[in-house]
Amino acid sequence: MTTHPTHALISRYAMGDAGVDDATVWAVEAHLESCADCRALLADAIDPGTRDLLDRVADGVAAGIAASPVRRRRRLLRRTGAAARLLPWLATAAGLMLLAVMFEKVFESRPSLVLLIAPVAPLLPVAAAWSRYTDPAWELMASVPRAGLRLLLHRTAAVLAAVVPILAVAGWGTGHSPAQWLLPCLAFIAGTLALGGLVGVDRAALGLTVTWSAGVVLPSLAGNRLPSILNGDSWPGWVGLTLALTAVVLVRAADHNRLGTDQT
Ligand SMILES: [Zn+2]
Repeated sequence: MTTHPTHALISRYAMGDAGVDDATVWAVEAHLESCADCRALLADAIDPGTRDLLDRVADGVAAGIAASPVRRRRRLLRRTGAAARLLPWLATAAGLMLLAVMFEKVFESRPSLVLLIAPVAPLLPVAAAWSRYTDPAWELMASVPRAGLRLLLHRTAAVLAAVVPILAVAGWGTGHSPAQWLLPCLAFIAGTLALGGLVGVDRAALGLTVTWSAGVVLPSLAGNRLPSILNGDSWPGWVGLTLALTAVVLVRAADHNRLGTDQT
């Protein structure tokens, strides 16, 4: 939106009118970022009670920042808090991989459990990293325009940095090539983010985990045969799938912008 939005539209935006579609909301927000005149109009359009509340919140935040001589330490604590929140899920992923390695060592004739669960091992921590139920800052982030995809990628990268070494140890311990465990894992991460734009990342992760478990892991164990899609030869397919899904995530980046509107 290069022209100024109408006064009526700014008023409806200020009131949180549900009739204003998401695309229009984003356009208004993008314009407001660069147009002081329209920001002034927006300030006028907000009802006095809300403006009073915003003023008090702004004063409180400013006072809190001014009173804090240890902001860097707080930031560190906040990061530590986020990591601590994910720790149980990372431990679960690590525990699952350890069990898979032991299973594989004991039952050498069975299909590789490490390869079967590696694709979905990082999905639970990713879901936890982006679930409104485990994240105390979810409401705040959901209200920040365009925080979505960048923050999601940031958190996903953090989860991958923790999970990939676990998978690497499991893969090395059982003698599988990285192409067999890393590529499916990346494809599933990309799939979770792509699907997450539509249904929410936590639901997407859970859905893909259940689908993969029921559709591939259980039949493979029951049939005592590793599916061909997990053979060493199938890596071009996984690379192609990962690239395609990553493209979907980037093209549909706007889906992650306003988490509060359609993801519950
Ligand atoms: Zn303007």
